[in-house]
Amino acid sequence: MTLFDNPEDIACPSCTTTNPLEILYGSPSNEMQLAESTGTIALGGTTVNGDDPAYRCRDCGHEFGEL
Ligand SMILES: [Zn+2]
Repeated sequence: MTLFDNPEDIACPSCTTTNPLEILYGSPSNEMQLAESTGTIALGGTTVNGDDPAYRCRDCGHEFGEL
């Protein structure tokens, strides 16, 4: 079982690399911090403004998508 399910079929609109990091918002749990440290997810911070990106490209760092 994987705790975080990164979408392998989503491509970065900037460089077309697939399998972006899922960006998670809110106060990070220990599991979330561990996942970020191993490059499994990205942490987006504790506040959500309504126009926050859902994914971060592993390759170019571009953030895109909607929550
Ligand atoms: Zn990219």
